[in-house]
Amino acid sequence: MSKIVATSVMRGAKDVVKQAEDFLNKAIKENSPDTKIGFPETAFYLPLINALLGVEVKTLKDCQPILEHAKSLLHEIPTQILNLPYLGDALDAGIATLFAEEIIMALRYLYKQEPQEQCNGFFTDTVMRSLGIQLVDGRMPGFAAILGAAPDNKTAVEIVRQLQQRNILIFVGSSSNGRSIIDQLIEEDVQMGWDNYIVPYGRDTLSAIYPLDWAIRSALTFGGLKAGQAKKCLLYTKERVFAFGLALGPLDDIKYATGAGAINMGFPVIADTDIPEIKPTGVTTYEALVKELDYKKIVSRCIEVRGIKVKVASIPIPVPYAAAFEGERVRKEQLYCEFGGKASNGIEFLTQVESDEIEDGHIELIGPDIDQLEEGVKAMSLAIIIKVAGRKMQKDFEPILERQIHRFTNYAMGIMHIGQRDMNWIRISEDTFKKGLRLKHLGVIFHAMLHQEYGAIVDKVAVNLYTKQKDVDRLIKEAKKTFDERDERVMGMTDESADTFYSCTLCQSFAPNHVCVITPERLGLCGAYSWLDGKASFEITPTGPNQPILKGEFLDIKLGQWKNVNDFVYQKSNKIINSVSMYSLMTSPQSSCGCFECIVAIIPEANGFMIVHRDYSGMTPCGMSFTTLAGSVGGGVQTPGFLGIGKLYIVSKKFILAEGGLLRIIWMPRELKELLGERLKERCKGLNQPDLIDKICDETAATTSEELLQFLTKVNHPALSLPPII
Ligand code: SF4
Repeated sequence: MSKIVATSVMRGAKDVVKQAEDFLNKAIKENSPDTKIGFPETAFYLPLINALLGVEVKTLKDCQPILEHAKSLLHEIPTQILNLPYLGDALDAGIATLFAEEIIMALRYLYKQEPQEQCNGFFTDTVMRSLGIQLVDGRMPGFAAILGAAPDNKTAVEIVRQLQQRNILIFVGSSSNGRSIIDQLIEEDVQMGWDNYIVPYGRDTLSAIYPLDWAIRSALTFGGLKAGQAKKCLLYTKERVFAFGLALGPLDDIKYATGAGAINMGFPVIADTDIPEIKPTGVTTYEALVKELDYKKIVSRCIEVRGIKVKVASIPIPVPYAAAFEGERVRKEQLYCEFGGKASNGIEFLTQVESDEIEDGHIELIGPDIDQLEEGVKAMSLAIIIKVAGRKMQKDFEPILERQIHRFTNYAMGIMHIGQRDMNWIRISEDTFKKGLRLKHLGVIFHAMLHQEYGAIVDKVAVNLYTKQKDVDRLIKEAKKTFDERDERVMGMTDESADTFYSCTLCQSFAPNHVCVITPERLGLCGAYSWLDGKASFEITPTGPNQPILKGEFLDIKLGQWKNVNDFVYQKSNKIINSVSMYSLMTSPQSSCGCFECIVAIIPEANGFMIVHRDYSGMTPCGMSFTTLAGSVGGGVQTPGFLGIGKLYIVSKKFILAEGGLLRIIWMPRELKELLGERLKERCKGLNQPDLIDKICDETAATTSEELLQFLTKVNHPALSLPPII
């Protein structure tokens, strides 16, 4: 390793550790040593310290031994005379830097100095879990932490757009020469936020600890690793978290020291300045520190050095197209024209036809295009009618393919899509119109993407777009009949009526032993995969993560156990899980990975279960928030009494049947009740308990066990008279 790099790393590490020490001493002086510190909404305390040392830092005084340990990792700065193998010392200094940076940031939270203006600050566990599905299904193949500022705003935007087009999640921050890329992007009116795959963390290098904190938590959340398993956690991040650092502008000692910390986690650093490089070391997969002076090549160099597998959708339309643009909004002041919503009529409808009825690639606009809009008019009616044909296509797949219209449309920069069926709403921005986008390009998108993603079941795709009011009205009327038929067919499906269930092992890329079994009456715990999705996915990729499981011999009707399901799960969980009950929370429940929508948890003293969804940040009667609970459920482990589930499983007739089903539910947040809405009311009626919904307590009546018991007794909740759970 270069002596210059090692010297900078060690100098930087000493500086950061000293800053942490001074800040801690000041904080102890101004507060009591028992003053609580920590980051918001995490179950992992100061996550890097927790993961690597197994220590739960909760108070100011807990920081002292950590800083002592950090100091013990600081070695002598290389002298001018002696050449030594510096790598080990520099890596130690990198870890010391990360510990000190975590403490500094937690202290800043104590002093309300974080998050910085227009920045996200610490990334919560909830955000990480809600992104879980995109991480595992390849929609988000990697992460970039950008530090510094590009030489000019145009280059900053260009780099970020190139990363977005590859669907890389981008954390932006730090500064160089007093300038931060955050401000460059703000000045260029680039939309930032999780939905846009661009997250500003903070304008100084110390706050680059936030992306690293985020990365290490995936080892604890999804990887099933325990706090203190330092080596395993670092190997996990190296092998499963495809992150890299991109340093723009001159590197200073603190950037070098933070970079050395990142290299410990397997994350290489790429710089745009003439620095000494660190070639293969084994710590990272390929090179650890490299330079790329050509901005046109810098993004592809980053991807190559980290070994990220990127799938780029090449769609011949005049604006960039990638999943990273999915969350972008088209605001009123940016609007060129809109369809559906409150502004006009709109519909999107996909149907299967015989192969000889359509010509593949036929795209037709019937009616005026958007460049024929009269001055001042900003709304049009639009019907999108997609016809598909394919030997493996089935009627059941129509709604699955139709649902993709939302995603496919949103991937185009400057187009916003909301809703579905005859309740859709599409907006096109002025900028996108000026770049040349016209309605036929929507057809180009649907044709290309349906072939790209569903080529195994779709052989031909044709798209008609109608913009005359009378055509759109007629098509809405016709399609509504089909929508009703589809709804009835799906509602009528039961576990008994299917001879095959489907597995999902997508999350094994993060939770290696986790297997979801998806039945018609129980969707995957992320809420994204129904039985029909599993079936379609198997047809599309027969060797993929969704495999059919022929139910075979029944072992226990109440628990929902089948021999073949048990055998399958045993094999696919790497022989860790022997048996799984589809309808029980107490006996061999399904394992939970980490991206569950809700957690069901036992409250023994109330003889029932509570449910909490991940958007609820308050306290629950089991004494834990969602975040804390989620920290102890997950990693592909079975935890009787605790279960990660998809929201819609709550209104299934098979919901924890073995323990009494919905009658056992004694508490859930009000928002969750509202989200389940009519379905929950119908389910209560189906149980002959129409007032059950009011007997299920929520946070407005109780957030402690005592308050909950009082409430349940007052309303005479049925769970109180069910047989004891334990
Ligand atoms: S269904 Fe299960 S395994 Fe598949 S993505 Fe969802 S949570 Fe992960």
